[in-house]
Amino acid sequence: MGRKLKRICQNGHTFFKSSDCPTCPTCEKLKEPASGFLSNLSNPARNALLFHGIDTVEKLSKYSEKVILKIHGIGKASLPAFKSALEESGLAFRSNDKNNNSNY
Ligand SMILES: [Zn+2]
Repeated sequence: MGRKLKRICQNGHTFFKSSDCPTCPTCEKLKEPASGFLSNLSNPARNALLFHGIDTVEKLSKYSEKVILKIHGIGKASLPAFKSALEESGLAFRSNDKNNNSNY
């Protein structure tokens, strides 16, 4: 029963390891070949989406453009890639409704 050490990787993920192995499980996951639209994104944008559990265009479409842009690591430069990925699947960003207290 080794003592688990709290570590923070260079990408800011917090994880616990009982060994000296500094491998971050989140980073390991991110190293796997990205599928679908994630493969067309820059690393920061992809990591930011994955951090929020957004790994498919379907999930992306549940968010409005406004909310997506609020995610740290996602800039306006990522929007064209998101939009074309959504369009390819016949989807679109959620519209910015006024009562959007349900989805954020
Ligand atoms: Zn990491």
